[in-house]
Amino acid sequence: MSLFGKGEIDRLRRELAREASARQVVEEHAAQLSSGLDAVPAGLVLADHHGTILLRNGAASRGGHADVLLEEAVEHALAAAGKGETAEQKVTLFGPPQQVLLVRGIPLVGGGALAIIDDLTDRARIDAVRTDFVSNISHELKTPVGALAVLAEALADSDDLEINRHLAKKMIEEAHRASGTIDDLLELSRIELDGRGVREEVHLTSVLGEAVGRHRLRAETLGVQLCIGSVEPDSLEADGLQLVSAVSNLVDNAVKYSDVGSKVRITAALVDQWAEIEVADQGIGIPARDVDRIFERFYRVDRARSRETGGTGLGLAIVRHVATNHGGEVSVVSREGEGSTFTLRIPLAVDTIVDSPMERSA
Ligand code: ADP
Repeated sequence: MSLFGKGEIDRLRRELAREASARQVVEEHAAQLSSGLDAVPAGLVLADHHGTILLRNGAASRGGHADVLLEEAVEHALAAAGKGETAEQKVTLFGPPQQVLLVRGIPLVGGGALAIIDDLTDRARIDAVRTDFVSNISHELKTPVGALAVLAEALADSDDLEINRHLAKKMIEEAHRASGTIDDLLELSRIELDGRGVREEVHLTSVLGEAVGRHRLRAETLGVQLCIGSVEPDSLEADGLQLVSAVSNLVDNAVKYSDVGSKVRITAALVDQWAEIEVADQGIGIPARDVDRIFERFYRVDRARSRETGGTGLGLAIVRHVATNHGGEVSVVSREGEGSTFTLRIPLAVDTIVDSPMERSA
């Protein structure tokens, strides 16, 4: 004989079913919460009021974070937060790759603690690059400004007209040097800020014509022959001002680093869906060991020659930036004593190129 009547059994069955469905809802919510926390880019570690770890999200349990130093920092943050204090500690993991993490402990209402791990690696790298850049700029401007001060002092002390003329000429050169660096810095920052810039139909013949036009007089004075060869395609979708700036910097270098009587040839060819703009010179060339670095800001192969020719070390950084903004690339083939050929590859229409060479090489 059963202990319960049929009615009682049915009631228990219904209650069990209700409980099962309530448990399912709770489990679903827990799974949703857990996958939501896994989607948070910061690492999260939750502990109860005894300090027992209840939960770690994906970012806090991924391989990169499994490090003794980090675990110690998390424990310390949770212990401090467990006592109601907020704690903060920066941890550098030497990797590779090196990572800079910020671990914070936060006390929770009703007991328990949360440790948050933020990855500051990118921010730390950007800060380092910025500090480096600012110190480079200061150095670049200090040289001509320092020279100006020395020349001006000499000028103030001299009564000799001939010497004064010479000093004034030198002062003009140094002033041009400083203003050249400032102009290039402004140009670089404009191109960086513009990003992709505008997209308009640009006629390559006019781009090359304008870029070459800027340097014709100087080329003539230096005895370097500038010529534009065949130009294809007729037009492409790009930021015209940025393109002129890039080609102009390549032509400027080609003229600067060439000797009297040599030729600089500018051409453009259509290769698949790309416009390949080439600037070829018969100049001094670039040593193989420097080729990879010449696109860095302020990098020069020969400081003395660059100084003589009024180089700022920023021209090729501008060219590379314009290429990147267009989803393109710039490359060089060079032989010391024979010459260099720079190629700027720009897709005909940025949006039609999904797999850009920059992304492929990244
Ligand atoms: P700069 O203002 O000094 O010319 P760039 O960024 O334009 O700076 O170029 C970086 C360095 O690359 C130059 O200092 C020079 O040593 C080298 N370089 C660039 N273009 C050429 C070229 N056409 N021939 C030889 N060397 C070049």
